[in-house]
Amino acid sequence: MTDRERVAALLFPHIDKTPEDYEALYPPRRLPEGAKVTRLGPSPTGFIHLGNLYGAFVDERLAHQSGGVFFLRIEDTDDKRYVEGAVKIIIDSLRFFDIRFDEGAGLDGDTGAYGNYTQSQRGEIYQCFAKKLVAEGKAYPCFLTEEEIAEIRASQEAAKENPGIYGAYAKCRDLSYDEVAARVAAGQPYVIRLKSDGNPDQSDPKLRRIHVEDAIRGTLEMPENFQDVVILKTTGIPTYHFAHVVDDHLMRTTHVVRGAEWLPSLPIHIELFEKLGWEPMVYCHTAQLMKLDEEGNKRKLSKRKDPELSLDYYRNEGYHPAAVREYLLTILNSNFEEWRAEHPDAPIDDFPFTTEKMSNSGALFDLNKLNDISKDVLLRIPAAELYDFLKGWAEEFRPELLPIFADRAYLEQILDLGRADAKPRKDLIYAKQIVDFISYFFDDLYKREDDFPAEVPAEDLPLILEKYLAGYDHADDQTEWFGKIREIAVELGYAAKPKDFKKHPEEYKGHVGHVSTVIRIALMGRAQSPDVWTIQHIMGEEMTRRRIGEALKGL
Ligand code: GLU
Repeated sequence: MTDRERVAALLFPHIDKTPEDYEALYPPRRLPEGAKVTRLGPSPTGFIHLGNLYGAFVDERLAHQSGGVFFLRIEDTDDKRYVEGAVKIIIDSLRFFDIRFDEGAGLDGDTGAYGNYTQSQRGEIYQCFAKKLVAEGKAYPCFLTEEEIAEIRASQEAAKENPGIYGAYAKCRDLSYDEVAARVAAGQPYVIRLKSDGNPDQSDPKLRRIHVEDAIRGTLEMPENFQDVVILKTTGIPTYHFAHVVDDHLMRTTHVVRGAEWLPSLPIHIELFEKLGWEPMVYCHTAQLMKLDEEGNKRKLSKRKDPELSLDYYRNEGYHPAAVREYLLTILNSNFEEWRAEHPDAPIDDFPFTTEKMSNSGALFDLNKLNDISKDVLLRIPAAELYDFLKGWAEEFRPELLPIFADRAYLEQILDLGRADAKPRKDLIYAKQIVDFISYFFDDLYKREDDFPAEVPAEDLPLILEKYLAGYDHADDQTEWFGKIREIAVELGYAAKPKDFKKHPEEYKGHVGHVSTVIRIALMGRAQSPDVWTIQHIMGEEMTRRRIGEALKGL
């Protein structure tokens, strides 16, 4: 046994499996040529955000478009951040957006042959590979205390040197077996550090640079790592760097989709792969989600300032998952909108998603654009399906609204209002807005929102409504019906056509539009709405007469 092997055996006496055992336990996956294996590795903090969904969407598309596998791994090595029930939140939130895992951590345990899929349960696996690195002299126990590290940092700052543990600052690199044994026996805590071969002199012209192909960004070139980074903490739990490399190797991930915030640590990961003798997978570093603030500056979406960063926001507001998916694709792939224009009715999964068409500068997130897209997406969803969606939303978030779902046929007619026209109305955006938009169809929700038009003097209001009620015949077709409103207008001194009023405003009180707005407000409580005649026919005669009657009484 070499000195290093003795150190490894001393530090990891409980590790009886070998790296070969794990290689055999997790063999390369038998998948068709070109099939991609991707994973989502969220920390169970209980907060799942748009960035997670954005990344998950890329993972899901890459895997499922290629006949591969998409799995969920819970990255809970930072136990301070663990929140009870977080795994359920992750799975449920993503399922709502139709993102499903084939494998990995689940509510009733794991599925798949590459588990355990929760990092905190994989301690011995990481320790086995750390043991191998120690035995080979590629990693070592480091006993530096926090105070010593702080002193090192202070002296580095004073000397304007790179901070960190490396080169001469890595004081525990070459401790002998006896020195290590004595410190362990004395109960001194230690971490395991990588023994980097990198050159700390970053200005050395001979400095090795690494080249990594990123599927989104093309070739990345960066200086090699030179830091003796921690790979196992004092608790034996790995850092992100080590867990990423070990897990993605053993789980046979082919594509690592993760945020651009990991780019600076890429050289560390590359060195870890080299030291372990493994091939790195294809990296796909996604762009940060940005938004334009009130001043027109691009900035990162923030948990504190931007409620729309949380996925709960979309569920609470009642965005249809298809709309959010459609929107995400427009910011994910620059050619999606063009494809959609050519294939207006195609299912979204037919879109050939590619990492090459992804933006590598900040992806701009814009709620207004989401709303615009949602209008189009909802237009393609049949009323019956929308009914089910809205009811599901109400059951979860607004149970007090459930009575409006009592009459399915009535609500479906309302949802379809103006949607089949040659130039269809695009009134429907998200559940909260839709319920508000259609509220006047329900007596319990109806409220007067707008005032009668200023052009109409108060004494005309009862006259208009009385005449309208007296002449009302539910059997009138649209032309007959409007003819009657025009008559009322003329009788009371309003122009029969808006353009007459515009030409000779001195001759009229207003025009027929003002008169019909009075009727609209009496019926719907608002000055803007889809076609009144159609609305009356959905409401029915009784409700129409009653609303006008009640408005009259309230004058
Ligand atoms: N746990 C990491 C995070 O939440 C995952 C990064 C990765 O996908 O590798 O940021």
